[in-house]
Amino acid sequence: MQGTEFITRFEKYCPQWLAEPGDPVGLHIGTLNKPVKKVMMSLDVRPAVVQEAIEKKIDLLVVKHPPIFRPVERLTTDDVQTKMYADLLQHDIAVYAAHTNMDIIENGLNDWFCELLGVKNTRYLVETHQIRQKKLAVFVPNENAKALRQALAEAGAGKQGNYEATSYSINGMGRFTPTLGAKPAIGQVGTPEQVQETKIEVIFNEQLEETVVAAMKAAHPYEEPAYDIYTLDNGAKKFGIGRIGELAQAQATEDFIALVKQQFQLAGLRVVYPKIKKEQIKTVAICGGSGEKFYWQAVAAQADVYLTGDVYYHTAHDMQETGMLVIDPGHYIEQLCKEKMVAQFNQWKNEESWDAEFIVSETSTNPFSFK
Ligand SMILES: [Zn+2]
Repeated sequence: MQGTEFITRFEKYCPQWLAEPGDPVGLHIGTLNKPVKKVMMSLDVRPAVVQEAIEKKIDLLVVKHPPIFRPVERLTTDDVQTKMYADLLQHDIAVYAAHTNMDIIENGLNDWFCELLGVKNTRYLVETHQIRQKKLAVFVPNENAKALRQALAEAGAGKQGNYEATSYSINGMGRFTPTLGAKPAIGQVGTPEQVQETKIEVIFNEQLEETVVAAMKAAHPYEEPAYDIYTLDNGAKKFGIGRIGELAQAQATEDFIALVKQQFQLAGLRVVYPKIKKEQIKTVAICGGSGEKFYWQAVAAQADVYLTGDVYYHTAHDMQETGMLVIDPGHYIEQLCKEKMVAQFNQWKNEESWDAEFIVSETSTNPFSFK
């Protein structure tokens, strides 16, 4: 398996463009232009993780937290925190990070959290991205219409739900006069021409625009094909960070806190009780990692509880006044991504018949302990 081949498959599921602006996702260290036999998934890149990767002869380390999140100012090998970069390069271990895009993707980290807690009917806590639908209308001589429709379908245009190669056609008359320098497929320079043409309309998602237009031009007989592209107000596919949904049945607050502790296998967690007592939990908002900046969205969506890590002392004071319970289970609950991602990698391995091994890092990178 080539590194690029694996990452191409990975980015079909978790594209870089779904990351929050400025989030340094993607390849951080080394190269993907090499054969990869062993891939390890970790939450963080820490010196102990790098040691594990060296011992296990890892070719590619996939992580959630970008190892160079802030610029590295020195690359000395006397400091263990920077020596690890040199060790990675020396042992030809590439590092690839998927960060907020892993929070945002469908069937991503926040969905796995919801599954674990039995939260159903989930919606996005905060919408972040959308892919809009566009429409291409192109005019082509009748005899070329079939081939053009086929070329557009092959380029991925016309997909709608469980249907593909959808299009609409209508016949009409096209008119043009070739001028000096033109090399018309039909007609002659200086002579007004009219041709029985078909207008073909197809929809496509906006990311395919270049591909679809290139395919249309390649399949069109005219030197200057006439076409229109417009953006549709309907049919956009939306993405978001964090999730909100409901428990099957309302639970007593203390029972829900115990459930969180048990499901995430935590020795302890922090709870911010609102001033107005919250007896029962039904609507649950969750955002893995450090999601305190979204707590107002959880309040606005009438969540009974918001789960997120790294809640700051003064923010907790503000949260107390909202009437919403806040549970901070710690940032490390994101380690769930290790086994979930490796299960996904193994599924692709079967589909693609890759000769590669995918493993979960066994190093705990949680800096906190409860005593
Ligand atoms: Zn995180």
